[in-house]
Amino acid sequence: MATATTTDQLCRNYINGEWVESKSAKIVERRNPANTDEVVARIALSTREEMKQAIVAAKAAFPAWRETPPPNRGKILFKATQIMQAQKEELARLLTREEGKALKDALGEVQRAINILEFAAGEARRLNGETLTSELPKNFAYTIRQPLGVVGAITPWNFPVAIPIWKIAPALVCGNTVVLKPAELTPLCAIRIAEIFEQAGLPPGVLNVVLGAGEEVGDELVQNPHVQGLTFTGSTGVGSKLYAAGAERLKKIQCEMGGKNPVVVLADADLQLAMESAVTGAFGSTGQRCTASSRVVIEESVADKFVAMLVERAKKFVVGDGLEAGTEMGPSVDEDQFNTVLKYLEIGKQEGRLLCGGARLAGPKYDQGWFISPTVFDHVAWDSRIAQEEIFGPVMSVIRVKNFDEALQVANSVRYGLSSSIYSNDPSKIFEFVEKIETGMTHVNSPTVGGEAHVPFGGTKDSSIGPHEVGHAAIEFYTETKIVYIDYTGRQRESSLY
Ligand code: NAD
Repeated sequence: MATATTTDQLCRNYINGEWVESKSAKIVERRNPANTDEVVARIALSTREEMKQAIVAAKAAFPAWRETPPPNRGKILFKATQIMQAQKEELARLLTREEGKALKDALGEVQRAINILEFAAGEARRLNGETLTSELPKNFAYTIRQPLGVVGAITPWNFPVAIPIWKIAPALVCGNTVVLKPAELTPLCAIRIAEIFEQAGLPPGVLNVVLGAGEEVGDELVQNPHVQGLTFTGSTGVGSKLYAAGAERLKKIQCEMGGKNPVVVLADADLQLAMESAVTGAFGSTGQRCTASSRVVIEESVADKFVAMLVERAKKFVVGDGLEAGTEMGPSVDEDQFNTVLKYLEIGKQEGRLLCGGARLAGPKYDQGWFISPTVFDHVAWDSRIAQEEIFGPVMSVIRVKNFDEALQVANSVRYGLSSSIYSNDPSKIFEFVEKIETGMTHVNSPTVGGEAHVPFGGTKDSSIGPHEVGHAAIEFYTETKIVYIDYTGRQRESSLY
């Protein structure tokens, strides 16, 4: 029986329960971003035809999976939870080698995936509708939840375990079949996920994974009439085009996209707490989080003190190979992302005052990887490019403001609206912030990053479109509601026809 990779590390697609080698001649190598001498995987950029085969397999598997009682679907997810738990350390190490994030962040990501699997498995026994009374005697109405059919999932590289899981697990538990198109940069995490579901006993065709380029195999998921639901996480540029194309075909779609998340620090805040949180939010996972704290908006009266604390901590942030003990931040994911960050560092030097970092890290520990030092720019104008555009690197922009009202205005001044946080002990300002901040998620005295398995996740403005993900919101997205009217007399002529 074929395995997920060939002996020369070429990753296979997973279609209809089989590991199949792509016929594509376009092969790309994935190298460890901390040490580019190490080839982690090779992937063939699959053809549109191969994606069509996966969609056909998912469509064929749908009727039997839909008929499988939800608690039995849930049992397979519970089994997958246990398998992932047993493989946690190994999977996290793989994630670090492939994506670059520090092992502690990778372990956190895998744990989040485990929690989401566990939550989704439990939801199998709660796929409830509603029972409603009627305007007529001896009548009632009720609703049932039904799966969409084939769901296409398109995922980014920055959370290559947690994001595929938070799409696949609820989609499956609701009775959908899934075709996953993971990011080209993180194929191994995706096929490891498929292996876990295979070991857990998921029937053939219920989950399929096709590796390849967004423009070809991703686009097929958008175009193909047999795909009823489309769930996308990635950049706003790609997401907005995908949403338009999918909407034209009347697919149910959700897109989770970019962010430019502010940490607002008021003069009365616990500055030490706020500083630690801003640093973790900005530099953790190398700033490659959609929820990264890329802007600090601070009241002028405490700004000098706060910035000094920030810079002292940023300079001590331990950068290196994510697998080395003590590493707090790994490299950029690849050369392209690295070059994008370097470009923004040059823009930042024109727009703000560079306080630390601002360059590639050099030396034997760094020369083989895409390492950039944690960077802080101060005196950044709210409308400058580094304060408005998603950089996706370890770069923090400090924007000084006169007071709370200006802080709120600045925090809301970007096109994005994913996450935010406020540091203060003043309840009236905190609640006003919660009310008026234009982000889908907001945190009080805690970092902009993170989220829990049973709590919805999503943004507003240009960060998100469509229903939220995770928690019960995911069940809403992956099901359709059918409304049923019952007249149990079987005789009444009167009905509410208006
Ligand atoms: P990306 O948009 O380049 O790619 C995301 C996925 O879309 C990849 O699988 C890619 O192959 C695919 N794709 C690209 N072009 C396509 C097309 N024409 N048709 C169909 N699919 C296509 O994003 P990325 O660089 O992988 O990830 C980083 C981005 O993701 C950042 O903007 C980040 O903020 C965002 N992100 C958002 C969230 C969230 O929940 N809001 C979470 C993580 C990452």
